[in-house]
Amino acid sequence: MTKFNHSFAKKDFISVNQFSYKDELDKIFTVADKMKKSILKKQIRNDLKKFCITQLFYQPSTRTFTSFLAASCHLGALTIPIHGMQAYSSAVKGESLPDTIRTVEQTTACDLIILRHPDDNSSQVAADYARVPVINAGSGTREHPTQAVLDLYTIKQYFKKLKNLNIVMLGDLKYGRTVKSLAKLLALYQPSVKISFVSPKQLVMPREEIEYLQSKKIKINETNELNQVLSQADVLYVTRIQKEWFEKEGKMNLYNSLRGAYNINLKTLSQAKKKMIVMHPLPRVGEIAYEVDNDSRAAYFNQMRNGLYIRMALLRLILRKG
Ligand code: ASP
Repeated sequence: MTKFNHSFAKKDFISVNQFSYKDELDKIFTVADKMKKSILKKQIRNDLKKFCITQLFYQPSTRTFTSFLAASCHLGALTIPIHGMQAYSSAVKGESLPDTIRTVEQTTACDLIILRHPDDNSSQVAADYARVPVINAGSGTREHPTQAVLDLYTIKQYFKKLKNLNIVMLGDLKYGRTVKSLAKLLALYQPSVKISFVSPKQLVMPREEIEYLQSKKIKINETNELNQVLSQADVLYVTRIQKEWFEKEGKMNLYNSLRGAYNINLKTLSQAKKKMIVMHPLPRVGEIAYEVDNDSRAAYFNQMRNGLYIRMALLRLILRKG
């Protein structure tokens, strides 16, 4: 896996581990700010006019799919968005991912591939076989790197500096990929960020992730009780229990016993600071009550809009001089 080393040009974006310096993220944020301005001013951009971008999604997606699609369209690229690969591509007939990737590169004549796939190493496999850059739009249970970048951008938008922040991550930390990618990215900001992981005991953050974060000297706290940490939280990052992985592992009884284990509502937030934010990568399936949506601390709608700006920035930086 190639480190960015301050340059994104023509590189794959497979994992948050490719970042080594905070200013690499600042570079993306600066371009994202420009993208935001031109979207708000309804300016037409032609940055990627002669480029073709192909999206291959093997798992369901609303935000990542539509924001990548919109990002490439707003930049003037020819965009080929393909959903439902798991059901409609030759994967059903047993075609391997390397062959599908090489096929799509030929048939769409694309300059970049955006891939969402249930296997942890799928984006790396795709990158090994593709001649064009590959962006990981969510793989398996461990990585969702573009989500982590937009999450960090959102936190920065609210707090200006990523300093002295207490981040609480709540929910399915075992199968959820966004929390793992974000926690690793936050490790770049140690020692000024502290993370509390809160989950039912069956869904704790896997040991290897904890050990990785500890090796980066990030301050970590683990608990099953949100009320032990909520009053100190600057960011409450909520996730859903990831039903699909329970289904795959034949553990639906466990899923049914855990679902509804936590529900953030206005009463819950009465214990939280007035100046904190609630984030969620979404979709939500009952973890945050609709009544929270109008509270000034609800950041998840801004968070999803930031996905558009960050993905525009990433596409531009990778395909043009970045
Ligand atoms: N949309 C995010 C993901 O693809 C979060 C989720 O599905 O819960 O990982």
